[in-house]
Amino acid sequence: MKVRVGINGYGTIGKRVASAVAAQDDMEVIGVTKTRPSYEAYLASASGFPLYTASSEQVANFEKEGIEIKGTLDDLMDVVDIMIDATPGGVGEAYLPRYQKAGIKAIFQGGERHELAGVSFNAYANYSDAWGADFARVVSCNTTGLVRTLFPLDRDIGIERVSATLVRRGADPSDNKGSALNNLEPSLKLPTHHGPDVKTIIPGINITTMAVKSPTTLMHLHCIMADLEKEVKEEDILATWEAVPRVKFVSGKQGMKGTANIMEMAKDLERQRGDLMEVAVWQDGIKMVGKTLYYYQAVHQESDVVPENIDCIRSMMEIECDPARSIKITDNSLGINE
Ligand code: NAD
Repeated sequence: MKVRVGINGYGTIGKRVASAVAAQDDMEVIGVTKTRPSYEAYLASASGFPLYTASSEQVANFEKEGIEIKGTLDDLMDVVDIMIDATPGGVGEAYLPRYQKAGIKAIFQGGERHELAGVSFNAYANYSDAWGADFARVVSCNTTGLVRTLFPLDRDIGIERVSATLVRRGADPSDNKGSALNNLEPSLKLPTHHGPDVKTIIPGINITTMAVKSPTTLMHLHCIMADLEKEVKEEDILATWEAVPRVKFVSGKQGMKGTANIMEMAKDLERQRGDLMEVAVWQDGIKMVGKTLYYYQAVHQESDVVPENIDCIRSMMEIECDPARSIKITDNSLGINE
């Protein structure tokens, strides 16, 4: 029997997770919630995802627009095994007691606190921590990107200290409030929360971060310096990352000068929605000086957490105990690493 999945919050992350669930053989989308009868509600319906409203007061608005509604979130909770909570950051907290009361499991996203779910998740680094759990949180896009490259380095070579600067996208492409066009905005609360968030997955790592919001919508860019426990060659670093999933090398020499080129590549690869779910690392931007490693990576904020949600479902629902197998199934179904 397939795992029955609901999506609460069919926005940037929710709609991508819904498509990814629909691409798996061992799970299915039972329904998605919308708060307003927007074009996304029409599209969800057209994609065959039954629509539910987040609350009963919203039903009339959908009926007025002629959009068929199957029920409310309460009705959806009655017919699913697990809910993907992809509501805006901080909103999921109010829903947790309702999921608990309905007797269903739930996955929260990076905008929620670690303490809310008690388990923070990255498929390659700690798949089994979510095994059978009622609640888990897939960490944010930035944390997912950092963990994908730092976890294997720490395990295979050893990290003494990491210092990273995150150049963050100002807004998502579809965010029509947008970010300022002519502004670089440093995070003044230092060090930023990204370092502690990485520690929810790699507890012993010594990491500090800074961040600057920039007027771009495409991707985040990470500038990372890692003091390693031993002196290794750049080829050893490449080999470490080559052996792990969801790390994709790009090359400046081959024309990948920046995030715009990377996003164009994702479209050329005919990835769904032009998404790039891997973290992109510049293979010709890796440098070892003594024991210090310098590198750059780019994170597609709208999509890198999507495959992690799929693997998190398999772990929480106890349907695949081998992380490598779950990751492979997910990646094959989504065209990752092709
Ligand atoms: P979004 O605003 O694009 O989508 C949120 C959706 O939830 C919208 O469809 C909205 O209508 C709906 N919603 C709003 N209030 C609701 C409520 N009370 N009940 C039910 N639905 C409600 O947000 P997003 O970017 O998809 O972010 C969702 C979560 O994913 C957040 O925790 C965020 O931090 C995290 N996240 C976002 C990104 C990103 O870059 N967009 C990346 C990784 C993780």
